[in-house]
Amino acid sequence: MNKNNPPPPQHKRLARTALTAPNVRAERLFSGIAVSAGIAIGPVFGTTEPDAVITRHKILASDISAEGARLEAAIIQSRKQLGKLRARLTVLPEESQAEIAPLIDAYTQMLRSSRLVRGARRRIEETLLSAESAVITESETIANAVLAQVGPDLPAEDRAGLRRRADEVTEIARRLVRNLTRAPFRSFADLPEGAILVAESLRPADAALLDPARLAGVVTEEGGADGHTAVMLRALGVPAVLGAVGLAHAMKPGDTAVVDGGTGRVVLNPSPTALAEAKRAVAAFARERQRYARLRRLPAQTADGEAIELQANLELPVELPLIVQSGAIGIGLLRTEFLFMNRETIPDEAVQTETYRAIVETMHGDPVTIRVLDWGGEKEIEALTIAGVVPELVDTNPALGLRGIRLLLRRSELLETQFAAILHASAFGPVRVLLPMVTTVAEVRSAREIYERVARRLRRRGDRLPEKLPPLGIMIETPGAALSADALALETDFFAIGTNDLTSYTLAVDRSETDVAELYDPVHPAVLRLVQFATEAALRLRMPVSICGELAAEPRLTPLLLGLGVRSLSMNASAVPKVKQAIRSAKIDDCIRFARRIMEQGQAERIRELLLDGIDSEDR
Ligand code: PEP
Ligand code: MG
Repeated sequence: MNKNNPPPPQHKRLARTALTAPNVRAERLFSGIAVSAGIAIGPVFGTTEPDAVITRHKILASDISAEGARLEAAIIQSRKQLGKLRARLTVLPEESQAEIAPLIDAYTQMLRSSRLVRGARRRIEETLLSAESAVITESETIANAVLAQVGPDLPAEDRAGLRRRADEVTEIARRLVRNLTRAPFRSFADLPEGAILVAESLRPADAALLDPARLAGVVTEEGGADGHTAVMLRALGVPAVLGAVGLAHAMKPGDTAVVDGGTGRVVLNPSPTALAEAKRAVAAFARERQRYARLRRLPAQTADGEAIELQANLELPVELPLIVQSGAIGIGLLRTEFLFMNRETIPDEAVQTETYRAIVETMHGDPVTIRVLDWGGEKEIEALTIAGVVPELVDTNPALGLRGIRLLLRRSELLETQFAAILHASAFGPVRVLLPMVTTVAEVRSAREIYERVARRLRRRGDRLPEKLPPLGIMIETPGAALSADALALETDFFAIGTNDLTSYTLAVDRSETDVAELYDPVHPAVLRLVQFATEAALRLRMPVSICGELAAEPRLTPLLLGLGVRSLSMNASAVPKVKQAIRSAKIDDCIRFARRIMEQGQAERIRELLLDGIDSEDR
């Protein structure tokens, strides 16, 4: 737990930032997907390329063809990576496309038949160099030859062109070598304080290693708006932009950047004017935060007096101070995956108990909904692979495989341990237990049987448990669960609607895939109708139902959700104040009319227009 070192508010983030002296490097603009609001200004720190260990060694003549094959495989892999980047450009504004596309094309061209590739092949065959040694040696030779032409007599434009050409060769060689050497996972240990982390991509497990107190912002070239990495960065309150194609390649050590996580704009080497503007934006953001802070103690109650349960999601323990400050009353979704990440062994009952207990105690009597492990999809967890609990994911489709409750029922010892730890923690404050990725009634029954068996075992052992077991609820995050919500409601104590996966599975869009990011649409009528169906099934039985996906964090959607009958929302802590503001200015009757209007629509575009116009435009 990081109680003594909470992430700083936004203005402090700026104050700590080490700004470089007036910048003479050319300003460049990039844009990507805005995933976590806030403005960051700071030196960039690239982690795109972990140092590849290259030994410039010779090979035996008998290994020539195997070494050649390694090189060809690395070329194909590099081409695929660039193809993916190129495809992604279409979602960017035209100006960004025009800037980046030629560069990626040049790289791709170089992987076809260039001096670099031909020379590397020749060096393997003729001088018996290993593939990586051949690539490095050839690229250095070419780059040096190109740079040797940079003479003072040449026009500046030509000199710049030659330097760019040398950079391109070096860059493509680096990519090849990384693929050849399978460079190891990166570490963030040497991330300078106040820096902006720039990476080609960031896995959820990487994001979990970040320290929000040291980090000004994050920009990556890959990733989607509601992928787990995005959720984590938002949760950490770190200004972040994902899918900013080209930045990782364009930046150089010593560069400064401004990251606007609210608009998706990134300015590399901002001009003095852009820098001044960014500082004003930071100040405005801090003022907004202050305004929200004043809301903290006010109740989450509509203008006509209806009380709404407003809670926060917890992804990592470092968020606890943020949650406590946010004004949320309890944790509506405690994702327990963090406990299993970045470690080689599965946490035992004692370790889990201690973690849950500490969180429950910190919430001082406010309820905590603990979701049991949701492994699968994009959430890779090393410890489970090492322990042989899950297969190494090679050619499977993890999002449709042994995910969430399916794995837990198959390896019930995991579930038993987790239930036992949660039950222990429930002696320290109100707790609810949540099952992920449920699709059938049978899964709920089996999980409940295990839950009650574990409780009986603990009681026999003399452990202190509350007289009435904590409620056992389920996530509604697949169309299958939503459409059978009436049957599932009879077996469970509450619903938590997870709109992130619900959107993915309904629209067949991978939530972390940039290529299809524009199709990932939580306000698609199909998704909203499933939310409505599941909500109504719960309300008919007077059973609690909450929304804990990212949809809940968008204040423009608050009137719609209230109008659908939802009275409990859980979201990342940073969104709590603005959603509270939306609740406090809404009247339930207006919300019902607004929701009715929206649910009549068949097109997401129209729904978005109505949401943007807002509830107040209803009477016009
Ligand atoms: C969801 O799917 O909406 C959800 C809240 O669960 P997670 O984001 O952890 O998959
Ligand atoms: Mg989910």
